[in-house]
Amino acid sequence: MKIYIDGKYYSEQDAKVSVFDHGLLYGDGIFEGIRIYHGRVFRLKEHIDRLFYSAKALLLDIPLSHEEMMRATVETCRQNNLREGYIRLLVTRGIGTLGLNPNRCKNPSVIIIADKIQLYPPEYYERGLQIITVPTTRNLHSALNPAIKSLNYLNNILAKIEANNSGCEEAIMLNAEGFVAECTGDNIFIIKEGQLFTPPLSAGALYGITRKVVIDLAREAGMQVSEPNLTRYDLFNADECFVTGTGAELVPVVKIDGRVIGEGKPGAMTKQLVERYHALTKVSGEPIYD
Ligand code: PMP
Repeated sequence: MKIYIDGKYYSEQDAKVSVFDHGLLYGDGIFEGIRIYHGRVFRLKEHIDRLFYSAKALLLDIPLSHEEMMRATVETCRQNNLREGYIRLLVTRGIGTLGLNPNRCKNPSVIIIADKIQLYPPEYYERGLQIITVPTTRNLHSALNPAIKSLNYLNNILAKIEANNSGCEEAIMLNAEGFVAECTGDNIFIIKEGQLFTPPLSAGALYGITRKVVIDLAREAGMQVSEPNLTRYDLFNADECFVTGTGAELVPVVKIDGRVIGEGKPGAMTKQLVERYHALTKVSGEPIYD
């Protein structure tokens, strides 16, 4: 595998960062997770836009333009002959001193890893997930805004540990007010009486690219979509539920905190959205081998 670091390609063994990089010392940096389907990078522009928004929030100067970043991403896939897979793009604050002052870090680093993807097992999609709500609440906007896709993912990791401890693959995180925010690495949706609902981004969710695609697909299919604050009660009494993310795509949820959702199996509208999503990944995205 060839890994891009600051304009050069390194083998897996030689792809290394300094122990003084503030990405490592403080989690000071940002990242993106992107899919490549059939030789096309899915929603590349949207991911690079989000990367730049995260950078802006952290006053982090990405040393490449949007265009250069897109080209570097595509080129890394090409170098690895990758047609199906997952791209991890990172920008770290770069090398500094042991103190946390980011002004001491003169050169942010750009790293791009393009690898095969480890998919969720098919039974998750066929039978649906059983998930729980965890005690760790989502970060406050006023502390570390969940919209920033930063290298400091401890909030999500703590929630993931709590999910794993209970034998669950994914978990629902509430915000400090008790409203549903999102899952540890996915956004969440419910369907009730034919309408699609997902928590507003202000409830403490990442601006999910898959979330946006699903909202657009649902509207195209004539579904009404809204983003109200949701409580656990709303989830328990939903007809259908699913989570979305770049890696997971759409995964049905059939049980939450011991409550069976709808008929306890992936619902018809969820299945329809999954089909529409798959149709999109077959054709959409940035062509890279054309
Ligand atoms: N929420 C969190 C916390 C995430 O890390 C992710 C990405 N894995 C998502 C939601 C889903 O976002 P996207 O659809 O852009 O992958």
